[in-house]
Amino acid sequence: TVRLSRRVTRMQPSASIAAKQRVTELQAQGKEIIDFTIGEPDMDTPAHIVQGAIDAMRGGDTHYTPTAGVAPLRQAIADKLRRDAGHDYTAAQVIVGSGAKQLINESFAATLDDGDEVIVPAPYWVSYPDIVTLYDGVPVVVPTTAANDFKLTPQALAAALTPRTRWVVLNAPGNPGGAIYTRDELRALADVLAGHPEVMVMTDDIYEYLAYDQHRHVNLVAAAPELAARTLLINGFSKSYAMTGWRIGYAAGPQALINAMGKLIGQSTTCVSSIAQAGALTALKGDQEFIEETRQVYEHRRDVMHKAVSAIPGVDCRLPQGAFYLFPSVQALLGKRTPGGQVVADDRDLVMYLLDEAGVAVMDGSAYGMPGHLRLSFATSLQTIERGCARMAQACARLA
Ligand code: PLP
Repeated sequence: TVRLSRRVTRMQPSASIAAKQRVTELQAQGKEIIDFTIGEPDMDTPAHIVQGAIDAMRGGDTHYTPTAGVAPLRQAIADKLRRDAGHDYTAAQVIVGSGAKQLINESFAATLDDGDEVIVPAPYWVSYPDIVTLYDGVPVVVPTTAANDFKLTPQALAAALTPRTRWVVLNAPGNPGGAIYTRDELRALADVLAGHPEVMVMTDDIYEYLAYDQHRHVNLVAAAPELAARTLLINGFSKSYAMTGWRIGYAAGPQALINAMGKLIGQSTTCVSSIAQAGALTALKGDQEFIEETRQVYEHRRDVMHKAVSAIPGVDCRLPQGAFYLFPSVQALLGKRTPGGQVVADDRDLVMYLLDEAGVAVMDGSAYGMPGHLRLSFATSLQTIERGCARMAQACARLA
């Protein structure tokens, strides 16, 4: 028998990866499942980026690269951050990793000791608490409210800080709540942190361009330059350029932390695929039209899905400011009975009911630290959105 470590035993499998597997299994059985669990752009990577990678391969770009990434890519990322995040990072302060997820892992691995606390506002991206736990840290989950667009308030932050706090995680536009902080809101959070100079901040900006209506992403270091020395900016190519399968992300921040993360990468994956790095460099240097085009596509899909979901009695949905998820409350549906007489006690039961009864796959809010909600992705076609929402409406109407 295999004896597994305590470390891996206490870890949860990624809920979104599990959901994707469940949908694939049901589809393989011949069931027609409408999938609203998708956490990635449904478009393919723009052709010029693919071409950039092909050219690199043909040109012999097939070797190990420096651990932190090739110099032109790190420089291009530093240039991009100067433009978008409003802060001057040197290329040496930038590190490239196999997706934002690897860099989040390395940053916690590099900084957490047993019992160190990490403040994670809920609803949160499923992986933060589990990654914190993996590296012996303790996630301190701080609930937010739909009424405040799922944003962390200065009061809630102040109340959650303890002498053991090492990090605060901010994710905007947020998965799954769609939260986008204004400059003033970031300033107010920064003012709380001014009294806690030992606390670091992680800003996960992976959805930065997916901001709707009048909302636009503001980076924390642009609003509060005094925090730059203890802020780790996380970003990547997965969502902006539809490059999830390439596995490439980056981080920028204080040199000592970037160096420590580099040491960890040097002993794990060595470096990111040279081919993916060439693709990423092409993405940054090339035409940026794709970003605005897809932003508009998502905004329209958001409106269509929000209208359809809001029309379902018992479903209460804020219009998300960014990212590509709806995160409605389904509290009013809980406690009802299915046509078969089973009680839908919580959001997980509702997810199973919608899968069985409507053939629609959604995520439960519990996985994101906020029970009583569902997460529905609109990174899918309008036709799929319309059909899936109609099926959901019918299934919800059959609950009594
Ligand atoms: N951060 C957030 C908030 C995400 O939603 C995701 C992916 O779903 C990631 C990071 C991971 O991105 P990557 O593909 O760069 O690892």
